[in-house]
Amino acid sequence: MKQLQELLNLKGKAAIVTGGAKGIGYGISYRLAEAGAKVLVADLDEETAQKTAQDLTSKGWSAEAIKADVSNEEDVKRIITTCKEKFGSVDILVNNAGIYPSEPVSQMTAEDFEKVMHVNLRSVFLTTKYVAEIMKPQGGGKIINISSIDALHPSMVGLAHYDASKHGVWGFTKNSALELAEHKIWVNAIAPGGIATPGATASSQGASGEQMEALTKVFLAKIPMHRMGEPDEIGMVALFLASDMSSYMTGEQIVVDGGVLLS
Ligand code: NAP
Repeated sequence: MKQLQELLNLKGKAAIVTGGAKGIGYGISYRLAEAGAKVLVADLDEETAQKTAQDLTSKGWSAEAIKADVSNEEDVKRIITTCKEKFGSVDILVNNAGIYPSEPVSQMTAEDFEKVMHVNLRSVFLTTKYVAEIMKPQGGGKIINISSIDALHPSMVGLAHYDASKHGVWGFTKNSALELAEHKIWVNAIAPGGIATPGATASSQGASGEQMEALTKVFLAKIPMHRMGEPDEIGMVALFLASDMSSYMTGEQIVVDGGVLLS
């Protein structure tokens, strides 16, 4: 039986974290790098991605940053070849980049709908397709898709396109897990509830101080733990899925939501 430290050790592994510069992606990049993985932080926000990589390397861990848009096929290919060239392999892929603009269906344009689908869902197809080409001859790998509790149940009005994309991520996770299992590529998802991130803060901008206070009260009342989650609370679960701790898991989705789906 392997020792606990050995199970969690990612030394020698190379990981890509999309949207890894901030928020949940930062939490994931941090824990994977701490566990010994070489982490490629792939993000639209180049400046913050560089800062994140510097932050991790300043701790003596291994990280690099790359500016890329996961909804662009050429960028996806570039992320994967860069990881292979810089780190020698791609062992872990975390599909975390995602957007959640709020608008009712009645005001949504076809372009609005397509943008959310491209960033949140088509990107997961593209990264999976190209990373599998590297993981198959390597003898395996781990893919972790960040979905949402909205992949199971709507959290609020205004997110129909988002919910469609995240239901899609969950469906894609299950079917790609089935297809890739014979190549020892394990594919799982994490479904976060409300996590305190720059994106979550920005999505509530526009509300006045008083409105914000009222909204927060209603939101927190629905969470049995009565608080938002922290990015690290997703980072720790991502480490579990990236490590040998989850050696008999594929095609699964772990809900991390402070109990909100119970309410
Ligand atoms: P966030 O704070 O907005 O951070 C996301 C990062 O991804 C940002 O640096 C963003 O860059 C980058 N990004 C956005 N679009 C991209 C693209 N096309 N290509 C590459 N990078 C891109 O978001 P978050 O709240 O941490 O959410 C991360 C993931 O968790 C998303 O998939 C989201 O759906 C999921 N999630 C979040 C929550 C929550 O409560 N926060 C709950 C459930 C699920 P810019 O800042 O330049 O746009």
